[in-house]
Amino acid sequence: MEFRSFMQQALAEARAAAKRGEVPVGAVVVSPDGRVVASAGNRTRELGDPTAHAEILAMRDACAQIGSERLPGYDLYVTLEPCPMCASAISQARIARLYYGAADPKSGGVAQGPRIFAHPQSHHVPEIYDGIGAAEAEALLKDFFAARR
Ligand SMILES: [Zn+2]
Repeated sequence: MEFRSFMQQALAEARAAAKRGEVPVGAVVVSPDGRVVASAGNRTRELGDPTAHAEILAMRDACAQIGSERLPGYDLYVTLEPCPMCASAISQARIARLYYGAADPKSGGVAQGPRIFAHPQSHHVPEIYDGIGAAEAEALLKDFFAARR
């Protein structure tokens, strides 16, 4: 199935992020006609930028390519539940569908915490599909943090 392979690509970005010493999270932006237009992993440490989350970097790249601040009809695949910052950006970008893997009880902002998309100030709410490739995404995060202890 297609959504499976897009999540596999996001997981590959997460693995690459772990190799760079970044928290292993990866994201992929898919165009309305089903092409991967951008993919990224976390680069907060490398760029010295607290906003350099995988989702932000992938959406920024996709926006630059189409020359727009919005990505209507585009889908975002991310290995971990987006944080409140990324969830807000996803709403601003008018992403059509959000597919994510592992739940993030610590920093997630979609199904827990501030639940950005359930907030009345959220002007655009994507369709949300969670738990896709969750086991793999969780294992990556667990290994990463276990190795740093
Ligand atoms: Zn984030």
